[in-house]
Amino acid sequence: MPQNIAHNTPEKSHAKGTLYIVSAPSGAGKSSLVTALLEQTRDIKVSVSHTTRAPRPGEEDGVNYNFVTVDQFKELLAEDVFLEYAEVFGNFYGTSRIWLEEQLNAGTDIILEIDWQGAQQVRQLMPESIGIFILPPSKEALQERLDNRGQDSADIIAGRMAQAVSEMSHFDEYHYVIINDRFEVALNELRSVIIAQRQLLNNQKLRQGSLISDLLA
Ligand code: 5GP
Repeated sequence: MPQNIAHNTPEKSHAKGTLYIVSAPSGAGKSSLVTALLEQTRDIKVSVSHTTRAPRPGEEDGVNYNFVTVDQFKELLAEDVFLEYAEVFGNFYGTSRIWLEEQLNAGTDIILEIDWQGAQQVRQLMPESIGIFILPPSKEALQERLDNRGQDSADIIAGRMAQAVSEMSHFDEYHYVIINDRFEVALNELRSVIIAQRQLLNNQKLRQGSLISDLLA
């Protein structure tokens, strides 16, 4: 490969998408915030994970998750399909690698809604990823939100409450922390992170390369 090719051909700027990792304890409102964010923001998508847990009422295969059996999950794992995976509340969850890389390479920003264990794996592999942690405004509010879901048994809710504290203890491994007290305020804060990230110097140099060359010529 010629070493000096960059001197002879104009540099081809190519902006890759940004990878966002969004984590939160169960019941903090993460999925609702991400769904609303996607409705308001262009060029950003959420990765649909594989899980072995049963669908909740209203959840659709291929939309909320790809629902698979434990055997299917293990097969995918053996085929090295997953960028990361973790066991959460006794179920397996994993992010498939290929779609994610294609989207990022095409310049689309991607959100991973994953737990702290998955976040640690992704951070190792993609240190340029941006972490956002969503916290509830109080423990009482969290408990209330878990109760109001009305989709899980009391045992599961109690287990999730205990897990929530363990999940929240990892908040300081993320770049941004958003408190979801008033939904519209939290949504605005989440959107601000994505919008600000897009205006960073290095991202703009890539996205707006030809405009900048033109302006400075
Ligand atoms: P839920 O069953 O309530 O949808 O999700 C339970 C937990 O699993 C949440 O913390 C969620 O962020 C996490 N989760 C969902 N998909 C993935 C994934 O692909 N990988 C990892 N590591 N965690 C996930």
